[in-house]
Amino acid sequence: MKISEIDKTKLSPMMSKYVELKEQNMNLILFYRLGDFYEMFFEDAITVSRELELTLTGKSCGLDERVPMCGVPHHAVDIYVNKLIDKGYKVAICEQLEDPKNAKGIVKRGIVQVISSGTITNGELLNEKENNFLGNVIDLNHAYGISYVDITTGEIYAMLLPHNSSILISEIVSIGIKEIVVSDRFDKDITYILKENFNIAISIFDEINDINKYIYEDVTDIRYINVIKHLLSYIDCTQLKDLSHFQKVIIKENKNSLKMDIHTKRNLELTETIRLKQRQHSLIWLLDKTKTAMGSRLLKSYIENPLVDKDEIEKRYDTIETLLKQFILTNDLQKALDEVYDLQRLSGRVAFGNTNARDMLQLKSSLKVLPTIKDILNQINFDKTFDPINELYELLEKAIYENPPVTVKEGYLIKEGYSEELDELKLIRKDGKNFIARFELEERERTGIKNLKVGYNKVFGYYIEISKGNLNLVKEEFGYERKQTLTNYERYISPILKEKEALILNAEEKIIELEYSLFCEIKNIVKTYIPKLQEISKVISEIDVLQSLAMVSEENNYVRPIISDSRDLNIIANRHPVVEKVIDKPYVPNDIIMDDNTNILLITGPNMAGKSTYMRQLAITVIMAQIGSFVPCKEAKIPIFDAIYTRIGASDDLVSGESTFMVEMIEANNAISNATSNSLVLFDELGRGTATFDGMALAQAIIEHIHDKIKCKTLFSTHYHELTDLENNLINLKNIHVKAHEENGNITFLHKIENGSVDKSYGIHVAKLAKLPDSLINRANQILSVYENKEKKRDIYIQECLPLEEVKQSKIEEEIKKVDPINMTPIDALNFLYQLKEKIK
Ligand code: ADP
Ligand code: MG
Repeated sequence: MKISEIDKTKLSPMMSKYVELKEQNMNLILFYRLGDFYEMFFEDAITVSRELELTLTGKSCGLDERVPMCGVPHHAVDIYVNKLIDKGYKVAICEQLEDPKNAKGIVKRGIVQVISSGTITNGELLNEKENNFLGNVIDLNHAYGISYVDITTGEIYAMLLPHNSSILISEIVSIGIKEIVVSDRFDKDITYILKENFNIAISIFDEINDINKYIYEDVTDIRYINVIKHLLSYIDCTQLKDLSHFQKVIIKENKNSLKMDIHTKRNLELTETIRLKQRQHSLIWLLDKTKTAMGSRLLKSYIENPLVDKDEIEKRYDTIETLLKQFILTNDLQKALDEVYDLQRLSGRVAFGNTNARDMLQLKSSLKVLPTIKDILNQINFDKTFDPINELYELLEKAIYENPPVTVKEGYLIKEGYSEELDELKLIRKDGKNFIARFELEERERTGIKNLKVGYNKVFGYYIEISKGNLNLVKEEFGYERKQTLTNYERYISPILKEKEALILNAEEKIIELEYSLFCEIKNIVKTYIPKLQEISKVISEIDVLQSLAMVSEENNYVRPIISDSRDLNIIANRHPVVEKVIDKPYVPNDIIMDDNTNILLITGPNMAGKSTYMRQLAITVIMAQIGSFVPCKEAKIPIFDAIYTRIGASDDLVSGESTFMVEMIEANNAISNATSNSLVLFDELGRGTATFDGMALAQAIIEHIHDKIKCKTLFSTHYHELTDLENNLINLKNIHVKAHEENGNITFLHKIENGSVDKSYGIHVAKLAKLPDSLINRANQILSVYENKEKKRDIYIQECLPLEEVKQSKIEEEIKKVDPINMTPIDALNFLYQLKEKIK
């Protein structure tokens, strides 16, 4: 049964309202609040019961057929909503907007929140180590404007991008935006790719209103303003929430950070590995020894946006150096940071209003250590500080009960001594309860019934309970009134008990109400501190990241790099910081030296020798240097780069399905057309994806182009040994190679980089290591020797079947190789020679 096909005039008023709301929001799953449940009807019910494995029932709503229905209990709604969002749905929450007790006629209902992947504020989908960004794009014809916000922390950013769809997509994916809002007129091809390839939710929205102006009041460029307004309007329409924790927008300009596109970030495994898409064994996994979730999130942003300003970078080195020297202070700092909770998200929750007393205790414990942290920052001359808002700490210390429940409507929120009125009510309640305890004893004495008991339940309140055996002792004069009969007991009430009960329950109710209202007052006070809390969060997350970098540097013997003002690059005994942690043998350090006259290093060497690792370790070292971290080597002099471009060999990223030669060329083009002389380019076996001569020709042309036109520092690994001849003609190109050690046809990798080139590729040796069948390896060796002979004649294009005699010839060679003349008798040698002669006949 479809909503569009029903006869609406027959519906009950409650269902009419449902249908009205649902028809305005056909793309959302509508959670419709009915008492203690959220119910779904019609198509929604069928979808949800299937996705969440809920029982599908029906409801007669005045129509001929029953309407499909399913529901979830209100207290567990988050779990179900999160599951649906994870599966790509968006959910609208419809609440009862008035208390059913006070409602005249049908209860007023309305949608209070739309929840989607970009707007979740709690639950498991929210990763504490990552921002959850909701973003939008506006097509400005000459450019794209994008902005994005983390609703849970209130951070908001905006930027302009060139009018190029692949740059736009790369940027959105790279920032990690979960949901993107666009106008109905926006390019459908782009939204299709975002949704299908990158699992980013798309929301269509066309309004632009003036709201929360303070967020962009400092911005003058109208293009940014329009983008931000569009995003804020969407949030305003879908989230009926207080967003007073939203901070002023930060305009992101590309020139302020080291540029890397999404492929480069992925290839270098900055925040997740290529194969398993896990944080483990990525760069952030290595560098993250932060103590707070805020620090962890900031570190991610550092890694994705390394600096380009020398002074800013040096400042971070300085702090790390101080932290390492002042290790006792650093230790105290770390202990203090351990006590700090996620103040950013806590502030967000305070703004939304869904905080409980436990949040307040977390806030209190965070505030408690602020004076210590402030003091340490002072002592280490950190250039930022904050107001430790001691008065807020004192308030929370005085007001919030130490062991509160999760809910805020059961009392036990406020400490004794905070409110006289509350303390008096509690006294009344206590007196009442004492009275009842005494009353039990007195009644036993008065009536002579030894096992008389006073109990309490929600239906009858306080009662007197007497076992069946003693019923004969109950007398009229006691003034008991029979209330309930159980198998073994009778329950009675008495006037005096009821009088006290009224007092106690009255006090109880008032206590709960008063505690709640006091708690709300405190929450409102905390709310006025949100800007200060955000300031504190910023400073704390910064120092947290720096102490983390300091710890990692110390643990792994990293050194402070020298930033070179020329283009001189000199790294001694460099390691790949992640690989050295993961492999179970010692890592072989290598120098990377590119002086003013060397721009291109052409790297040759067998497969598995360590070419790709060598290239990656340079990029990682540069990134670490530019985020302000120490670096994995003995000594480093590094220029500041403006961008890193990578093209990692086709076979290396089959995982993403991008193995075609076209993609390889598009990425090469991206590098070549955007790189400046200050960029770093890594081309790993470029040209591998096409026929030999094609690939070689392209590779050479690209090298020449970089050498003559771009002049940027470039690492170029290749299996085309012919390219090593380029060293003779290109003065800024140098050959280096990774040697392998060969003995008796077996090969071991030393991973040591040396000057000059090698002329052997050892592919078959690697195949042997991989344990391909011996017969196959032998055959490959035969074929290879033929090719090698042919190559000498510059004839390798001919792919004909191998003539028999050539195979025979190489068989004889094989035989000769096998014998050991020193250990042969003269007669053996003669026999052997005779046999050979027979064979070539
Ligand atoms: P290539 O690109 O030359 O085929 P890789 O760079 O992929 O080789 O390296 C192959 C393996 O060798 C890596 O997985 C790594 O474990 C190991 N390796 C590479 N470089 C080193 C090194 N400097 N020290 C120790 N092991 C290394
Ligand atoms: Mg490689």
